[in-house]
Amino acid sequence: MNSAWRAAALAVLLAACSKTPTEKLTVTQQAFGKTADGTPVDLFTLANPRGVQVSITNYGGIIVSLLAPDRQGRPGDIVLGFERLEDYLKGHPYFGAIVGRYGNRIAQGRFTLDGVEYRLARNNGENHLHGGLQGFDKKVWAARHWTDSDGAHLELAYSSPDGEEGYPGRLDVKVTYTLAENNQLRMDYYAVTDKPTVVNLTNHSYFNLAGEGDILGHILRLNADRFTPVDSGLIPTGELRPVAGTPFDFTAPTPIGARIEQDDEQLRFGRGYDHNFVLRGAGGALAEAAEVYEPRTGRVLRVLTTEPGVQFYTGNFLDGTLRGKGGRVYARRSGFCLETQHFPDSPNRPTFPSTVLRPGQTYRSTTVLEFSAR
Ligand code: BGC
Repeated sequence: MNSAWRAAALAVLLAACSKTPTEKLTVTQQAFGKTADGTPVDLFTLANPRGVQVSITNYGGIIVSLLAPDRQGRPGDIVLGFERLEDYLKGHPYFGAIVGRYGNRIAQGRFTLDGVEYRLARNNGENHLHGGLQGFDKKVWAARHWTDSDGAHLELAYSSPDGEEGYPGRLDVKVTYTLAENNQLRMDYYAVTDKPTVVNLTNHSYFNLAGEGDILGHILRLNADRFTPVDSGLIPTGELRPVAGTPFDFTAPTPIGARIEQDDEQLRFGRGYDHNFVLRGAGGALAEAAEVYEPRTGRVLRVLTTEPGVQFYTGNFLDGTLRGKGGRVYARRSGFCLETQHFPDSPNRPTFPSTVLRPGQTYRSTTVLEFSAR
């Protein structure tokens, strides 16, 4: 074997070896710290060969970081959050978390089901928000991970006792995050109950596809012809209002900031966008809900869901007091959320799609986040 050939062979071998870790889907697990009562919590990292990498902790099922390539292939972290568990434990506005048992608001923290009135925590003015004082975002979930031909999977399980936060019935919940080769991150939600109850699960990630600055230049398209207007406490009035001719019309791609400061009662109530949009698909089959494009980096996020609605929230209540990853200050509108969901206050709104789950029934919901660049 001549030396030139040997050098070439060695180079090929080295290249192959250095590629090995990224040539397949992987899940790794590392310690992330302990909760106040000493329960250990882990951080799971799902990675695919095309440069998407998501780290999720079993504390609250929180997506801690999400790396996606820009148009030059450079990875960037596109979600708000913290480096350390301690910062999540101190309190935060649901960064990346699984939200439940009922994501979004229930008016006056009460509802009646089969003639019985249930009272929930009022943790948002006079209303109930995102499952109450100790919602699913603050629970330590049991975790299991594996990889197969569909992707890298992390399954999180939590059993919510009967009466927790005022909700009836023991609810057994599973959420599976799957990262696939094709740059889709899929979230499958499953729940069963032993008494009639209400369920509305979502993920509360705040995205910033540029990884910094505000999100006003991001270009949004929403597959929604109507939205659910709210009162000053952000409780839906019951109306399904056409978006046409309003600042809520994102049926054609439009910068998030183009109309956000318009003199509009709904924008005043939300201090920006903080509204549920009625998706065209109306729920059931997996359908596209939204596409967001960030012109500077070229990153694109597409959201698909089986849910009938999506809460579009522009981080209006972020106020610069939280410092996140890399010391970044989370100022107003530095992230946006697209929370796939049933409509807010559905337990008190018989005309909205039902959120009631009964024994013997299975709650299922799927949302897919798809990352690309152009
Ligand atoms: C709500 C906002 C709230 C935010 C953080 C969103 O889902 O719609 O009103 O401020 O969550 O709690």
